[in-house]
Amino acid sequence: MALDAEAVMKELRSTYTSGKTRTFEWRVSQLKALIKITTHHEKDIVEALRSDLNKPEYEAFVHEIVGISSECKFVLKELRKWMKPEKVKTTMTTFPSSAEIVSEPLGVVLVISTWNYPFYLSLNPVIGAIAAGNAVVLKPSEVAPATSSLLSKLLSQYMDTSAVKVFEGGVPETTILLDRKWDKIFYTGSGKVGRVILAAAAKHLTPVVLELGGKSPAVVDSNINLKVAVRRIISGKWGSNSGQTCVSPDYIITTKAFSSQLVDALKDELEKFYGKDPMQSNDFSSIINSHHFDRLTKLLDDEKVSGKVVFGGQRDKTNLKIAPTAILDAPDDSLIMNEEIFGPLLPILTVDKIEDSIGRINSKEKPLAAYLFTNDKKLEEEFIKNVSAGGMAINDTVLHLAVNSLPFGGVGESGYGAYHGKFSFDAFSHKKAVLHRTFAGDIDARYPPYNPRKLQVI
Ligand code: NAD
Repeated sequence: MALDAEAVMKELRSTYTSGKTRTFEWRVSQLKALIKITTHHEKDIVEALRSDLNKPEYEAFVHEIVGISSECKFVLKELRKWMKPEKVKTTMTTFPSSAEIVSEPLGVVLVISTWNYPFYLSLNPVIGAIAAGNAVVLKPSEVAPATSSLLSKLLSQYMDTSAVKVFEGGVPETTILLDRKWDKIFYTGSGKVGRVILAAAAKHLTPVVLELGGKSPAVVDSNINLKVAVRRIISGKWGSNSGQTCVSPDYIITTKAFSSQLVDALKDELEKFYGKDPMQSNDFSSIINSHHFDRLTKLLDDEKVSGKVVFGGQRDKTNLKIAPTAILDAPDDSLIMNEEIFGPLLPILTVDKIEDSIGRINSKEKPLAAYLFTNDKKLEEEFIKNVSAGGMAINDTVLHLAVNSLPFGGVGESGYGAYHGKFSFDAFSHKKAVLHRTFAGDIDARYPPYNPRKLQVI
C-alpha cells in the first residue's frame, strides 16, 4: 500500500471522532476478528514465520499464535469490568461528593514493532489499543517481510479498516509516520531507535511506551535441581528463537566451583534437545539475516574471548545458523559483555560467592529481565530486593511474560511503560478524574472576601 499518512490520519481521526471505536460492541468485534485470524490462518502465519526466521512450527504456534488468541480471549472476558468507571473515596474538603476514575481512549495511536516475534509483538499492543477504544496504525518490522505483508493482508481483510490500518515499510516510512501527531506511540525495539522515537514524539508532546531490551542475567546457585534449571535455561535461550528474544538470558553468573558442573549439564541437555549436531536440527531457528549473523560472529571472533568457548562455536552463513555456544569468563571489556547479544551465544561468568552476582548485575544498566535459580530463600529475597529489572522469574526463564496479570515492561535503559492484560488497556487509556457534586454544602469560607475567622469553620 502506498504511504499516504495524511489521508490515513484523516480517516482514522474521523472514525475515532464518530465514537464508533468507543463502543463495547466495536471493541469486542475487533478482538473476535483477531481470534479469527489466528484460527483461519494458522498455516499462513507459521509459513511466514518459517520464511522470516526459519522458526520451528511448534515455537510459531505456541509463542506467537496462541499468545495472541489467548490474550484476546482474556481481554474479552475482562473488558466490560475494565471499562466501568472506578469509584474512589473523596475527602472532607469536597463533602458532600462522590468521585470516580473514568477510562477513556486516547484517540489515534501508532504501534511500531520489531522482527523477532513479528506476529505476536505486532498484534499484542494492537489488542490493548483496540480494547481501550482507540483507532490504531500498526507499522510492523520490514526485517520480517513475510510476516509484515501477511499482517497487512489479513488485517485489511478481517478488521474494520476505517479504524485499524497496517503500514508496511522501513525507516523512511516510519519517519513519515513519526512526523504526525499521534495520541500515543507504542514502540518495541532497540534503545538506539527508541531515542529517535522519543525525540519525534516530544515535538507533539505525545506519550510513548518504549519496550526495549538489554542484557538479562541468569544467576545459577549450586543448591538447585540442576537438570530442571538447565532445561529451563536452554528453553529461554536457544529454544526461544535461538536467543533472539528480548527476555532471553543474555549471560549466566555462577560460582567458580560450580561452573564446570553447569557447563557439562548444559552440554548434556542440549544434545538431548538438538542432537549431536545442532546445526542440523529443525527445532532451532536461524539468525534473522546476514547483518545480524555478522554482528554475532564478530562477538565470537573478538580476540578477548578466544580460547574461552566451552561448547559450540560452529556457524553456517549460507543457512544463517550459529550453534548453541557458551563462553566461560568473557572479560568485562569484551564486545560480548558490552552489548545485548540477541542470539545463541551465552557467556558464563564466575564469582567466588553467589551473593557477589548481585553487585555484578548492578554494575550494568538495568535489564529487561533477571533470573535466579536457587533453593535459598534468603538469596531469593536479596535478589528481588536488590536487583532492578523490568521483570523477574525465580527458578525459570521467560515465563513471567505469559502471566497476563503481571505487567510486562522495562526500567531504565530497558524501557518504560508496561503492557499485557489490564496493563495494556491502561497503557492505551487516559484515566480521567471525575468529581461529582450537587448544589448542597456550599461553604462560604472558600469565597472572598477572605477572612481568617472563616477558616475556623473548615
Ligand atoms: P529496531 O529498533 O532497529 O527496529 C524496530 C522498529 O523500528 C522497526 O519497525 C523499524 O522499522 C523501526 N526503525 C528502525 N530504525 C528506525 C529509525 N531510524 N527511525 C524510525 N524507525 C526506525 O530494533 P530491532 O533490531 O528490530 O530490535 C532489537 C531490539 O528490540 C533488542 O534490543 C530487543 O531486546 C528489543 N526487543 C524488545 C522487546 C520488548 O518487548 N521489550 C521485544 C522484542 C525486541
